[in-house]
Amino acid sequence: MLDTRQIGLHAYYAGTSWLRKHYREKLEQERRAPMCVLFYHRVADKHPNPWTISSGEFERQIHWLIENMDIVSLEEVQRRMATGQNDRTTATVTFDDGYAENLDTAIPLLVQLGVPTTYFVTLDFMYGKKPFPHDVQRGVELPTNTIEQLLWMAGQGVEIGAHTRSHCDVGAITDPNELVDEVLTATEELSQLIGRPVRYFAFPYGKPENMNQAAVDLLRQAGLKGVCSAYGAYNFAGSDPFHIQRIHGDPDFIRFKNWMTIDPRKVSLGIDFRFAESTLLSDSQLSDSRS
Ligand SMILES: [Zn+2]
Repeated sequence: MLDTRQIGLHAYYAGTSWLRKHYREKLEQERRAPMCVLFYHRVADKHPNPWTISSGEFERQIHWLIENMDIVSLEEVQRRMATGQNDRTTATVTFDDGYAENLDTAIPLLVQLGVPTTYFVTLDFMYGKKPFPHDVQRGVELPTNTIEQLLWMAGQGVEIGAHTRSHCDVGAITDPNELVDEVLTATEELSQLIGRPVRYFAFPYGKPENMNQAAVDLLRQAGLKGVCSAYGAYNFAGSDPFHIQRIHGDPDFIRFKNWMTIDPRKVSLGIDFRFAESTLLSDSQLSDSRS
């Protein structure tokens, strides 16, 4: 049964689909086509929660993307952003956190279909360490990835990215040492674990308030290729390729399609985004705050 809101969404989608089609074609002709980078967390059929999509729905979304858009890697998104022009609307698949069940069907499907995938892992919550606090709160300790799983994925061409050590709110960090540890040291440790360079970083939570310029500067100076946010925005050629804006892979198919068919109301989101200034305290401020 559809609730009223669902009926509203369907009506909105149906009523505006001709407009979107026309709008997308116009953007493509003007070489300003949007690049959609999706983030998923967990693809599984047990213990559904707001960060889980069923394997059937996930497969449906991936096939829809293949039929309707160009599927590209993060690197290709950045290349197009840097050239200043893009004439094809694209989709890119990423995952955050590192849930073990993604290996049951989702990742093998993406590998089989040749869909470029970037997979962001939180170091402290790998298998055998500890469950995510947001899962413990809900009373279900969901399994997280093993190192063997990460190695298998990397071997299949999945790009492994960093997602801090403790899944912290980077925007709330005030201690410079903690910032370096969460964004840089944890990224280096992940790189050592998988025996290959880690080139991308995704901010946990990924809203504007969960990120800051100091972290971005650290990662850029350390030679990473880019950082990902998660507040819901398209990417356009001409903006800074180091920052990739992402869209939630919504388990609700109509919401997913609403974003992916290019909602004119959402096109201006994130266009003028600026990272918040640093929240870091100096050594003397830190010792004051500790005393
Ligand atoms: Zn996360």
